[in-house]
Amino acid sequence: MLTGRQFIRTAALFALAPHGLAQPEKEVWVNDVHSALNRTRVRELLKPRSGDELVDIVHSAARKGLAISVLIEAEAGIQWPALIRAYLEAQREMKDQWGIAQKQTGADTFTLGGSLASNVHGRGLAMKPLISNVEAFTIVNGEGKIVRCSRDENEELFRLAMGGYGLFGLISSVTLRLVPRRKLRRVVALIQANELARGFEERIAQGFLYGDFQFSVDEKSPDFLRRGVFSCYQPIDKDESVAAEKKLRDDDWLELLRLGYTDRAKAFQRYSEYYLSTNGQTYWSDTNQLSAYLPNYAQKLREQIGGSDSSLIITEIYVPRPDLAGFLARAAELLRTNGTFVIYGTVRLIEKDEESFLTWAKQPYACVIFNLLTLHTPQGIENSAKSFRGLIDLAIERGGSYYLTYHRFARREQVLACYPQFKKFLDLKKTYDPAERFQSDWYRHYRRMFAS
Ligand SMILES: Cc1cc2nc3c(=O)[nH]c(=O)nc-3n(C[C@H](O)[C@H](O)[C@H](O)COP(=O)(O)OP(=O)(O)OC[C@H]3O[C@@H](n4cnc5c(N)ncnc54)[C@H](O)[C@@H]3O)c2cc1C
Repeated sequence: MLTGRQFIRTAALFALAPHGLAQPEKEVWVNDVHSALNRTRVRELLKPRSGDELVDIVHSAARKGLAISVLIEAEAGIQWPALIRAYLEAQREMKDQWGIAQKQTGADTFTLGGSLASNVHGRGLAMKPLISNVEAFTIVNGEGKIVRCSRDENEELFRLAMGGYGLFGLISSVTLRLVPRRKLRRVVALIQANELARGFEERIAQGFLYGDFQFSVDEKSPDFLRRGVFSCYQPIDKDESVAAEKKLRDDDWLELLRLGYTDRAKAFQRYSEYYLSTNGQTYWSDTNQLSAYLPNYAQKLREQIGGSDSSLIITEIYVPRPDLAGFLARAAELLRTNGTFVIYGTVRLIEKDEESFLTWAKQPYACVIFNLLTLHTPQGIENSAKSFRGLIDLAIERGGSYYLTYHRFARREQVLACYPQFKKFLDLKKTYDPAERFQSDWYRHYRRMFAS
């Protein structure tokens, strides 16, 4: 077990002027890196370096009648690579080492605080969301008090703040449950989606720990969302060497993205060839979850291929595992009909989370992740929104759900079908934070949606 506290450096906070107040003298604009479609004006950007400074921020915001929103800057908070580096260094002399069980895949520059607040997951084959790896955390509440939360102490707040999108306070330190670091072998095969549910079951029975299915994004091919690269990771002997010689670097990712924009048949072919060529490579269980990410990918692609402003919006849809192949077939029809392009997509598994209040893993689901190409015009954004809503409907028909992170396109009835506890969640937010000190565009959106 290791305490995040010793590694925490900074957490970026933004003090927002509440609605109705005079405009601040100077403006700071922030945005999310991936879709670049969530531009938000904040009053000031603060970078506390200690728990005491977090407490000061809450007191000062209360005095000035300001609301606090937690967002992220690239440098802010302890991010996964720094955390992993620090614990590896601390255990340098140890034969048997400990590491994280899971983190997000696809990018690394996420803070621990942000990861708890979204109750994230990785590509574990038999894992629950991150809450299962959290022993305790401390949070600075709306009164500026530091509160320790665990399954034994302030248990309700523990369940609310995990996956509570920053609405209950500023998480300042985290005690993570680590797991033994393992050496793993990657086993890769090209399979059909209708073999996938059984494929996952077999891999789990054989003791594989991680895995995913990266599907074809070529909407012109019958393989679209139906055929994919099935990569799973099997523990190997401690004495085997770790030698993942072939790796995708930033330029390779950019080239794959360029093909995703311009020639999706080739993109999938190139990607699957690369993955098949890594069959048998060995990895460490934690560092294998780190990956390259290009924050300026949209600008670089525009320089290479021209065209209007665009970016990818991610969505994550959950379906009961037996319904996976049927869902993918219907999703393919829907995306083709809507003329929406998928640039990258993958399927993973999640186990049921019985702890977090706003739980998204309501049963052992298959998680289907889509990165949709979105033009930055009202029509382009609405086209993606329509496809996202369509995908959520397909999930709801099957008893599935979707992830509240990434976008706010779901209709009220969709939110309620997937998160029937949402109104109660907002009521509890007001109970714990009556002054609504902790706010965000996300919060205001849902507060409006459920106002009546
Ligand atoms: C390319 C990409 C890949 C991704 N892959 C995955 C994935 O594989 N699995 C997955 O589950 N998610 C994934 N995500 C989503 C990501 O995990 C979440 O968006 C996560 O919250 C980001 O963390 P952050 O540090 O950037 O938080 P931010 O974006 O800064 O904030 C996100 C939320 O956390 C809150 N928050 C941040 N810090 C704190 C704090 N200290 N205390 C309290 N609340 C806080 C904020 O208020 C906000 O509501 C991915 C996102 C991208 C862009």
